[in-house]
Order: sequence, then C-alpha cells, then structure tokens
Amino acid sequence: MFNSMASICESMSDVSIDESQFRKRFEAFNEIGATDAGGVNRPSLSAENKRARDQLVEWFREAGLDVRIDEMGNIFGRREGRHPEADPVLFGSHIDSQYNGGRYDGVIGVLGALEVVEAFTDAEYTTDRPLEIVAWSNEEGVRFQPDMLGSGVYTGVFDLEYAYERADKDGNRFGEELDRIGYRGDHPCEPDDIHCYFELHVEQGPFLEQAEIPIGVVEGVFGFSWLNVTFEGQANHAGPTPMNMRQDAFVATAAVTNAVREITATEGTDLVGTVGSVDVWPNAINVIPEQVEFTLDFRSYDNAVVDAAVERIRNEIEWAADREGLEYEVEEIMRVDADPFDETCIETVARAAEAADYEYTRLVSGAGHDANYLNTVTPTSMIFVPSVDGVSHRESEYTEWEDVVAGTDVLCRAVADRATIGADGE
Ligand SMILES: [Zn+2]
Repeated sequence: MFNSMASICESMSDVSIDESQFRKRFEAFNEIGATDAGGVNRPSLSAENKRARDQLVEWFREAGLDVRIDEMGNIFGRREGRHPEADPVLFGSHIDSQYNGGRYDGVIGVLGALEVVEAFTDAEYTTDRPLEIVAWSNEEGVRFQPDMLGSGVYTGVFDLEYAYERADKDGNRFGEELDRIGYRGDHPCEPDDIHCYFELHVEQGPFLEQAEIPIGVVEGVFGFSWLNVTFEGQANHAGPTPMNMRQDAFVATAAVTNAVREITATEGTDLVGTVGSVDVWPNAINVIPEQVEFTLDFRSYDNAVVDAAVERIRNEIEWAADREGLEYEVEEIMRVDADPFDETCIETVARAAEAADYEYTRLVSGAGHDANYLNTVTPTSMIFVPSVDGVSHRESEYTEWEDVVAGTDVLCRAVADRATIGADGE
C-alpha cells in the first residue's frame, strides 16, 4: 500500500478535478436556501434541506451512482469497482447548515466527493475497490440535538428510536420530519464493512490561513470536558444593601470566567476554555443576582491537560463561592477523550498532498465531525482547507476557491490510493 502512490499517480495521470463544473455545481447548490448576506439557511430536514437533498440525489444519479437512502436519511452514492465484493472506500460530509450558516461547511466535502467520482469517470479510471460517497444527516445539531446524529446512529453511538424521538423547539420529531420530507429510507442505518473513511472540510479555525498553507492533514480531534456550574447567593435590593453584605452569584461567575483565561494561558499549549451559556436570576437591573447557572467548555488534544484544567477550575469555583458566601454545585455533563485518527489514513492524506505538490501541515481539529464517529468503526482521517479569518457557522464563512479545489484534489488522490488493492490484498 505504501509503495503504491507513484504507480497510482501514473495511471491517474488523466484524472483531474473539473474546476468549472465543480464551481458551477457549488454555486447552483448554494442558491438553495441562500440568504441576503451571502450565506445559506438549510437546517436539518427543513424545506431547503429537502431541496438540497433532491438536488444532490439528482446529481448522484446523473453521475451514474447507485443511490440509497438509509433509515436516518443518510444519502449514499456508490460507484462500482473492479472488485465489487471488496470493502468500499467511503468519503463525504454533510449538507445541513446552521441557521444562517456558511456555504462551505460540509458542502465542499460532499460536492467535492461527487467531483472525485466524476473525475474518475471522465478519465475512465476504475478503482479496485468500490467507492461510496455520503451526505450525513443532522451534522450541525442546530435544529435537532445532539449533533452528528446521522453518523452517530450509523456507528451505533445512538439508537435509531432515540434519534427519531429528538424534537426541535416546536416539538417536531426527527423521525416524523424525515417522513414528511420523504427521506426516511429503508436501508438499515448501520455500518457495512468499510475499508476506510475520508472527509474533506473547512478548518473553521485560523491556523492554515495564518501559516499560508493550503492543506491540513488532520491527525485527530480535541478531547473536551463540559461542566455545568450553579452559584446560589442572596437576592436583595441593589440600592440599600451595603457592598460588604452581599452574596452576589454573578461576582463569583465573573471571577471563574477570568480564571478560565488564566488557566488556558498557563496549562498546556493548545488548551481552550469558554464560558458559553450564562443564566442569571432574577436578571433585573436593581436586584443583586441570587443565582447563576453557567457552562464551562475546556478542550485540548492532551487528555491530561483537560483533566488539569477541570481540577483547577473546580478549585477556582470553590474559592469564588467562599469569598462571596455562596452555595455551589459543579457537574461534569460530558467528558470526551481526544480522538486520534488512523495513522495509515493520516499518512495516505500526507502522501496525496505531497504527490499533488501542495504544501501541507499536520494539525488537530478543535471541532467535532462525523469523521469522529466513523473513526470508531473504520480507519479514518480528514483533509482541512483554510477558513478565511478562521470564521465559520456564519454567513461570511469563506474559503478561497483554489483551496477548495486543492483539498478536493488531495481527497481524490487519497481515495485512489486506498481504493487500490495491493499484492498483500490490502
Ligand atoms: Zn461541518
């Protein structure tokens, strides 16, 4: 497998991404649910998401792919290989968006995958293994929580029934909405035997752009801890109550928030920490805050660093409560270890970038992806391309088109590499 890249590149010499066709499809696709500010609004199982799905299925069929929809509405397109019985190489991403989200997140991984199989077909290049491209349902988790629901059921992290029962804020259930838009397929949502999985995605962070490097070879994904904290003090009038007689739950919250900055500056090198959600009660201009409930999010690729940050913040919470005379409660609501991708797949992506003569760097993703779940059932890696200003989940999300094409080119070569069966049968 490792010595095969040169020979593949020779036989692949006619294979190239059709940039103008790709661009045309990308623009046409993003007219669906387009917003005035240049983004897209296609949340999971919305009318716009259905139209995007319909368009994708039409293009899959035009490309000669065998389309199947599974029970979670995950859309697969299969291109047969020379050995139809061999495990396929799977690659793709998602097409649901945030509310008023960006045009690149997920989309380039799915439309890029389609361009890869089109490039093989145009060059009359047949892979040994079958190829399957996929658009996972409900990656964003913005309308139905949790996120990555389609790949989560596929890999056995969630039950199908659990997924169907997820409701949006209006009480519409995932299973019913899937029926309503006609995408509850009958193919079982479970992993068939897969040789490996690749996902092309925008970085959603600033590193590649700042380093002026077009390709990120993704080694894995940060682990994280989520904490829920409650401070309980005493509400009182903001006027007559002297400063030395206050038990202000928000003052302690502010101290803990500042401590997050201190901890991230001194613990490890990649640690990030956020107070993202804060509920203040009674939340009135003339009343001392009696109760604050807030969340903490710590992430690093080093599990020990996350543990250390959690321990330090627990101390800070205790000290802040003591100083202010508060009751408090801390609950870790989620703890996920760092997720290293498969070393052979990481190597494949790096060699693909080298073969195509793109500068690349290895990096770790701060955000979770469908690839995390796939990594539990098959060897997996990802390809990142730069996000301008590190912005995503916003309408202004932008990636230079040449970088999108470069990432797709790397995906194409990585897929060709792993779809080749060597003398060792791998
Ligand atoms: Zn995404």
